[in-house]
Formats: sequence, structure tokens, C-alpha cells
Amino acid sequence: MAAIDNLPPLREVIAEHGLSARKSLGQNFLLDLNLTAKIARQAGDLSNCDVLEIGPGPGGLTRGLLAEGARHVLAIEKDNRCIPALHEISRAYPERLTIVEGDALKVDPLALLNPPIRVAANLPYNVGTELLVRWLTPPDWPPFWSSLTLMFQKEVAERIVAQPGSKAYGRLAVLAQWRADAKIVINLPPEAFSPPPKVSSAVVHLNALTEPRFPAKADILSKTVAAAFNQRRKMLRAALKGLLPDIEDRLIAAGLKPTDRAEQVSLEGFCALAREIERG
Ligand code: SAM
Repeated sequence: MAAIDNLPPLREVIAEHGLSARKSLGQNFLLDLNLTAKIARQAGDLSNCDVLEIGPGPGGLTRGLLAEGARHVLAIEKDNRCIPALHEISRAYPERLTIVEGDALKVDPLALLNPPIRVAANLPYNVGTELLVRWLTPPDWPPFWSSLTLMFQKEVAERIVAQPGSKAYGRLAVLAQWRADAKIVINLPPEAFSPPPKVSSAVVHLNALTEPRFPAKADILSKTVAAAFNQRRKMLRAALKGLLPDIEDRLIAAGLKPTDRAEQVSLEGFCALAREIERG
């Protein structure tokens, strides 16, 4: 297959910069640049967008994003060993790559980005899940991003797109589908990574809706859903009794059965309950 750029293969980059993968940073690198370009294409038309990339590592996905025409990529990487390798990419794509060394959970990148903004990342799953929840639950909507293209463990990806009644349905499904269209766009076996992780992975693409599907306050919805699924085997009236003393009446007012379990409640039902709880 044709090379996507004139930079050295990733195996050489990793060897030259001594980027042995660190478990503590969740480092499983993608080495196939045709695959990273394919992931970048899932993010949509990048030519008029700034892309926020979290965890570029040796730069496989970064190169995919740039080769696919991203107007500008802002890449935040915690591992300082990767920074010189990323600077080599930045020299090959003048003015189009900005590198920030830091922890994506602490850095606020917004001052360095111009809308429209798309987000792309292959992150350790715990950091990815925490960022996803943050990106989905700002008080106001629409958010700073128009789409998110994120790699997760397959099991986490399935939780994001899950439907009511399934075992995977929970907080991630409700929060993601409330304010975005979410779908799994690529499945990847462990061997796609170096070193291979224990489980399969999947890329999820989320497009921000212009308005949430149903009205609700993000913090209340998030708290309600977390409480409901924290004890998912319990009936709602028991799982949610810590939220309000008259929770049973509120459940009925929201059109829900107090004896139902969280798994049976639709997105619309959770939003109705969050509005009831908001009334105080
Ligand atoms: N994007 C590269 C790829 O696809 O080959 C690397 C993926 S690797 C799974 C995850 C990357 O995220 C690593 O480079 C790691 O150092 C970085 N990382 C881990 N935690 C981070 C954090 N809190 N903030 C920024 N980067 C982080």
C-alpha cells in the first residue's frame, strides 16, 4: 500500500526515540499508518476543522489526521519521551501541528483551538471514559466539539451505543445518546496494536446534536443515572431513595414504574425523571 507521508515508519520512530511502551500510561501503539488514516477518515471532513488529539504517543493517528487534510491538529501528550518524535511530524507539516506536553485531564486546550473542532483519540480507556463523560455533560449545549472519534475497549464501545434492556445499557449509553448520535465505526483485534492489549478495541464516532434529544439538566441527569445504575439489580424506588424522600411519587410523575429496574428505563424516561428531580 502507498505510504501516507514521507516520514519514517513508526517502528523506526519508536526505536530511534526509545519509546518502549509503558503500561502505566496505557500505551498500546497503532503502527499501521493506513489504519490510522482510516480512523482519521471516520472523523469526517477535516479540511476546515481544528482537531484536538489526546494521547498522540509516537504519532500514528496524528499522521493519519494530517495526511487526511486536517486544517490544524492540537495534540496533548503526557509522556515527554514522545515529544521529540512529534516535533518531527510538526516539521513535516509546517504550521499544522501544535504539541502540548501535559495531562489531558488537567490541560484546557480551548484557547489554542478554533471552531469547528473535532476530537480524535486513542487513549487509555479510563482516561477516555472520564473525558467522554466531561465532553458530554457541560451545562450548556452545543459543546465546543462537533464530533468525537474515540478508540475504546470493545466492551466500553458497546456500552456507549447500547439500547435499553441490554446488559451493556447504563450511564454511558444514556449520556452519549442524549446529546449525540453514537455509532461503532471500526472494530480492531488486539494484534492491531503494539504491544497487543488483552481485549479487542473499537472506534466510536459521536456527532453532537444541535439540541439534546429531551430537555434535562446535565448534572441532575448524570447523578440520577449514576445512582440508578449503581444498583442496577434493584428496583428504581430502592436504587434512587437517597436522591429525594418522595422519590416514589417523582418516579410516577415522570411516567415510570417505581418497581422497574434502571435497565428498563428509556432515555426519555430518565430525562423526565431528571426534570422531576430538578423541581426539588
Ligand atoms: N495515539 C497513539 C496511537 O494510536 O498509537 C498512542 C495511543 S496509546 C493507547 C495512549 C497514549 O495516551 C499514550 O501515548 C499515552 O502516553 C497517552 N496518555 C495516557 N494518559 C494520558 C493523559 N492523561 N493525557 C495525555 N496523554 C495521555
